[in-house]
Amino acid sequence: MSGTPGAAGDLLTGPARSGPDESDWAAAVAAVRRLPADARVLLICHVNPDGDALGSMLGFGLGLRRLGVRHLQATFPGPPEVPEPFRWLPGLDLLVPSTGAYPDPDLVVCFDAASESRLGELVDRLDTAGDALVLDHHASNTRFGRVHLVDPAAAATSVIVDELLTRLDVPLDAEIAQCLYVALTTDTGSFRFEATTPAVHQFAARLLATGIRPGDISRQVFDTRPFGAVRLFGEVLGRARLEPSAAAGHGLVWTYATQDDLARHDQRPYVLEALIDSVRCTAEADVACVLKQVGPAEWAASMRSKGAVDVSAVAVALGGGGHRFAAGFTGAGSAEDVVRSIRAELDGALIAR
Ligand code: AMP
Ligand code: MN
Ligand code: MN
Repeated sequence: MSGTPGAAGDLLTGPARSGPDESDWAAAVAAVRRLPADARVLLICHVNPDGDALGSMLGFGLGLRRLGVRHLQATFPGPPEVPEPFRWLPGLDLLVPSTGAYPDPDLVVCFDAASESRLGELVDRLDTAGDALVLDHHASNTRFGRVHLVDPAAAATSVIVDELLTRLDVPLDAEIAQCLYVALTTDTGSFRFEATTPAVHQFAARLLATGIRPGDISRQVFDTRPFGAVRLFGEVLGRARLEPSAAAGHGLVWTYATQDDLARHDQRPYVLEALIDSVRCTAEADVACVLKQVGPAEWAASMRSKGAVDVSAVAVALGGGGHRFAAGFTGAGSAEDVVRSIRAELDGALIAR
């Protein structure tokens, strides 16, 4: 839910890879067009789905439905729980738990997942499916399918979905637009981040022209939380720590939330996704980090940078991935252990100016 600032500015090891070329688009269109009438299509988005993952997947699913695909499932790894802010999205009826997903679909399409590890227990479908299409915008994408529509310059995966639907002659309607708008606004931080190009606003204009209501959508996605989440944020923000000398003096601010914190306030894990946005506004730190406990000694780390540090380099070094200004990984040990590992990587991830 919290966005991925600056997806367009990705800077990872090796030469920058540009977006899909005409042969990639043609291969993707052909993969859909040659499906037989009774084909089974499985759509998969990344674990712990955010607005871009869910919105891109469901928007594309609705498009396939308009094309007449009848045997169609959408899924993601892990518990089949859609975060409350997205529980109104059109196309949710396509969702099945990962345990109920077609074992050997004719086509699998992956959304917003930079690597196979983000597909969890569904990763075997890459081998069992007749064909595999990957739609993504992470520069770190490992190209794990057969046909790849991967564009690091795209502000969200939904930008790529839109282009593919256009090439498949599926007209935008309000339901598809709601899904793609949620994806676009979550990944651009409501049009605040660096990746917000003129083309992004033109895309948003086409989505709005279908008659969708941006005020209602933003309220549901960004501005509605249970009162318990407000109290939980108060507690977790109250224990934030500022380390001005970290990252060679560019500064680090961090906090953590335990499973016990969630239980005490009777909250679901999704409420913590917005926490990083309240931490990263700290003026005195270039890097912000939130550690969310996911097991007895396991933490999901979310990192954000204002530009001095490439947090994707930190995340990749620690087994995760992401974008230059927004990245994450899973760390082991105590919260202090995980922060120690981040501190150790920060100096090496400074961006030369
Ligand atoms: P988040 O902090 O969860 O909003 O994620 C920020 C960015 O980091 C997103 O682009 C994710 O794709 C990426 N990311 C987060 N966690 C991981 C992980 N464990 N492995 C790979 N990429 C991750
Ligand atoms: Mn995502
Ligand atoms: Mn995304």
